[in-house]
Amino acid sequence: MGAAKTLQIAIDGPSGSGKSTLARRLAKALGFVYIDTGSLYRAIGLAAVRAGVPPEKPEGVCALLDGLNLEMRLEDGGSAVYLDGRKLGDEIRTTLVTQYSSQVSKIPQVRAFLLETQRETARKYSVVMDGRDIGTVVLPDAQLKLFLSASPETRAERRSAELLAKGERVTKEQVLADLCQRDENDQNREIAPAKPAPDAVFLDNSGLDAEETLQAALAIVRERLGDLPTSV
Ligand code: C5P
Repeated sequence: MGAAKTLQIAIDGPSGSGKSTLARRLAKALGFVYIDTGSLYRAIGLAAVRAGVPPEKPEGVCALLDGLNLEMRLEDGGSAVYLDGRKLGDEIRTTLVTQYSSQVSKIPQVRAFLLETQRETARKYSVVMDGRDIGTVVLPDAQLKLFLSASPETRAERRSAELLAKGERVTKEQVLADLCQRDENDQNREIAPAKPAPDAVFLDNSGLDAEETLQAALAIVRERLGDLPTSV
């Protein structure tokens, strides 16, 4: 008897579109593993902050990669990132690290450094993986590619609520400007620009809450992949 076939679902889209919320919930509903690739770029951003390396200087960031002890482990149905043996948490979600991660993600050596880690984690299990280039570069053979988007105002509202809940003092205008800057960085970089794969299915969740977004995604999964067993 051959090994059971694993399935890959890619979710790409701009910052604040709710990719990670959807990916986590979809993975849970399907019994797949959720892989958050943004946390890897954030870990490199954090390493740059800690080392005092300007994120827009490729030489400094590349020198950092040489000694970097970065690992992605699968635990509790999801992915956890370890830097020098320590599990990373909210320290990779601050505004500063977020800006650094956006800058370092433009550097080709950073993307090459992370590519195999992402593919390797997706090889053994059925996964829902979210990011910017999952359907186009990391998992071009994924059985389903979703491109999730929402209006900039909706995205800024969600992100500022998240930051305020964590105690960061931000205005919606700042958050909107920051999101637009990161989108611009992601869409216009030379390597792996954030764009929908030609075979991606679009889902705009501007007027939808997390549960409605999940149900809309599950409907697409059923349509494209047939009836998979779900726990919702
Ligand atoms: O998704 P998240 O906001 O956590 O990602 C942090 C940053 O990492 C993004 O702003 C983006 O520039 C970068 N990223 C990327 N490719 C991915 C995932 C994230 O360039 N697959």
